Amino acid sequence: MFLEHLIYSAAIALVVGMIFMHYTGRNPSWLIIVMTIFPDIDLVISRIMTACNLSYPVIINHGDFHNLISLMFFSLVAALILSRYGMKFTDVFICSAIGFIAHFLEDWFVYLDCYSFFYPWSLRVYGLAIIPETGDLLGLAGVRVLLFGVVLLALAVGVRMYFDGKWTIQSHIMSYFDVGRSVKYYAEVLLSGNSEKLE
Ligand SMILES: [Zn+2]
Repeated sequence: MFLEHLIYSAAIALVVGMIFMHYTGRNPSWLIIVMTIFPDIDLVISRIMTACNLSYPVIINHGDFHNLISLMFFSLVAALILSRYGMKFTDVFICSAIGFIAHFLEDWFVYLDCYSFFYPWSLRVYGLAIIPETGDLLGLAGVRVLLFGVVLLALAVGVRMYFDGKWTIQSHIMSYFDVGRSVKYYAEVLLSGNSEKLE
């Protein structure tokens, strides 16, 4: 379950982005797609800790970032950092939280009794495996899960085209280039050490 997170969350971001634009004139929905990957970083950290035999300050296991505490903590950290660089605190927090929730829903959809999403309030594990994840596409995705995601993305494109007359697939792709240019600019300024340019 890797590619699917991107596809499913891209579908969600398309619709959320439209609602955001309508009410605020801003569209930070690309953050949904970035942050939706975040919960699985617990797997990367867990593997590094196991490989290096690390247990300090705490042992991180896969699943540890799949709960409401992580959602709030990392969304807060993202909002605190990105609000320093011109993004609105609430935009970042909301989009990060949606990215996390999208990830949780996607895992719940494909895995059976997988994670304690409501930890520490409840230890109960949730997961329905409505379309079970098989990882049969080079371990990066399950073909059936991915196909369902593509259908969902096509539906989201349809919804966006129907309700947002100005939106086209081309303009959407171009908007991601804008995000890329901004990230490149911030990276260059930060690396040059001249943070006054960020204002
Ligand atoms: Zn996950």
